[in-house]
Amino acid sequence: MLSSILSIILSVVGPQVLVPKPVQYVISEGQCVLDSDSQVKVTVEDGKLSKELRNLPKWSREAAYKMVITPDRVEIRAMTETGAFYARESLVQMTAISDTLQCCTITDWPRFSHRGLMIDISRNFRDKDFILKQLEAMAMLKMNSLHLHLTDDAGWRIQIDSYPELCKRAAWRIGETYVDWCDNGCRYSEEYSPDACGGYLTKEDCREIVERAAQLHINVIPEIEIPSHSREVVYAYPQFACETPSGEKVMNRDVCPANPEVYDFFETVLDEVMEIFPSKIIHIGGDEASRQGWKSCPHCRQFMEDMGYTDVAQLQSHMTARMEEYLRSKGRTLLGWDEILEGGLASDAVVMCWRGAESCLEPIMAGHDIIVSPSTRCYFDYPQDAPFREPVAFGSYLPLEVVYSYNPQDPSIDENALPHLLGVQGNMWTEYIPTEEHAEYMLYPRAFAIAEIGWTPEEERNYQDFHDRALGLIETFHAKGYNTFNLGAEYGDRYEAEHPLAHLAVGKNVSYAEGCSYDSSYPASGDVALTDGLFGSWAFKDGRWQKFYCDLDVTIDLEKVTSVHYVGATFMAQRILGIAFPAKVEIYSSIDGARLEKCGESTYRMTDKAQSTGDFMDFGCPVNAEARYIRYVARRDKTPGHAALFVDEIVVN
Ligand SMILES: [Zn+2]
Repeated sequence: MLSSILSIILSVVGPQVLVPKPVQYVISEGQCVLDSDSQVKVTVEDGKLSKELRNLPKWSREAAYKMVITPDRVEIRAMTETGAFYARESLVQMTAISDTLQCCTITDWPRFSHRGLMIDISRNFRDKDFILKQLEAMAMLKMNSLHLHLTDDAGWRIQIDSYPELCKRAAWRIGETYVDWCDNGCRYSEEYSPDACGGYLTKEDCREIVERAAQLHINVIPEIEIPSHSREVVYAYPQFACETPSGEKVMNRDVCPANPEVYDFFETVLDEVMEIFPSKIIHIGGDEASRQGWKSCPHCRQFMEDMGYTDVAQLQSHMTARMEEYLRSKGRTLLGWDEILEGGLASDAVVMCWRGAESCLEPIMAGHDIIVSPSTRCYFDYPQDAPFREPVAFGSYLPLEVVYSYNPQDPSIDENALPHLLGVQGNMWTEYIPTEEHAEYMLYPRAFAIAEIGWTPEEERNYQDFHDRALGLIETFHAKGYNTFNLGAEYGDRYEAEHPLAHLAVGKNVSYAEGCSYDSSYPASGDVALTDGLFGSWAFKDGRWQKFYCDLDVTIDLEKVTSVHYVGATFMAQRILGIAFPAKVEIYSSIDGARLEKCGESTYRMTDKAQSTGDFMDFGCPVNAEARYIRYVARRDKTPGHAALFVDEIVVN
């Protein structure tokens, strides 16, 4: 009896399950069995709703909907087809669980106009079908912007008729995955060659993507990287490279900003891109230019002299300004990563900030529209659970809860500037994401969180409630053929990070040996960090981990002679980020601070497999000494690229 009642209750679905959570809903009496589309009545250009929501900005009102579910039908009212579409997507989420709907009234509208997802198809190529599949998921989440990272060192991924060598030579490489490619010396191949891996989207593919996206009320923003992340361009067209003073081509990832042909090239590429993508904003990348070759290139030097430039950064802003002007002449708006600000920028360019939440403040205060996607909150290539359970990943631990708890509306943003905050975006870089299944695993459910941040008012958001709804939506995603992270079995953060430890050295003074201080980029809590009783989480960016670009050599003063039985510290390693375990640890004790007695030593030899994505290891030993001073020395592994040490606490017991 009880189970049959339960099954009736469970088979009725209401707005409580929706992701993103609707702005308002009121539950009413009764249920509606929805077995035919003829029961759904849709009215657009609804004047009454427009009046009711007159205080909302126009873009938000246009995406709003009201849905009234009564026992015999579903009535949808909206200002535009977009609003009606979002109402239908709410129905899609609910009917995926049950056809029996709880009677209710939902009134719903978005918080931000840009609710985006970026997919990098350069590092590991993803084809049209994969992109079309993700568009369907985005629509279900009421996301409205797909940003395609189409070009980068690892492969040019869009057909350009005027420059056929791009797809013929630079869309193919030796190495199935990005990692294989790097391990093989980053060599390109050629279309139809037996060793060629990779691919590109044809114009036909792109048109199909744009067309389907439009049906799903999603705008597709193409990104063409200018002037860096362009090794593949320089490879296909070496004439765009800088030169050394002796006239040799500099085959790195930056094009030569002093070469007029380079401007023709990008303008022609953008022409062909704009012909396919109707997006008002066009992304030109602009991040991480090394500008190294520019310093010695005779053409760049001459150009700087002619223009009166004193810094190579001005070459980049010159190029950005030219592209901005060109796009504007075509009725489009330039969007770039926050580095485009360096050296000045026209105020109608849109900035996508990724270098931390602070990087968004400067552009928005300067009057730019901004889209926020700080790496610490919105990067889906970062691992989402304990490192020992996750595939190899780049970056710092970024679980669903940390993504979800991000509020793009920084309190220091002036109220007048708020309309310039267009929205939020999750970014999936794919260097370490070789397959489609893996890509979906990294995207979902973290994209659910971005969708809800972008849609639901801040005061309506609550992680526990979201977590429950996300678990339900994951079931729906599985039923529709998506792979996801197994949220129900999440391990969570490092246990030690949540439990401060009392030990003999807590609060005691730590002195750093001459020339062996911590690195200013990761100071943790400074001089007291190693004896504050606090341990780091899985995330090296959490403010608990102290970084050393030298050997760690510290002496702790216990203030009086004490019986010591154990000394140890935990180190983090993440090989792909150049963070490694120490090669050797030595521990000394002393009664007077002058005479040291060595009481322990351990060594570690790095293997290729170890330390790939975040490993944690204790380096300590039993001591059994009477001591006032403890000296702890950790010598670095000096293998190139593996030089940094990360340590959170030295435990003395
Ligand atoms: Zn040059």
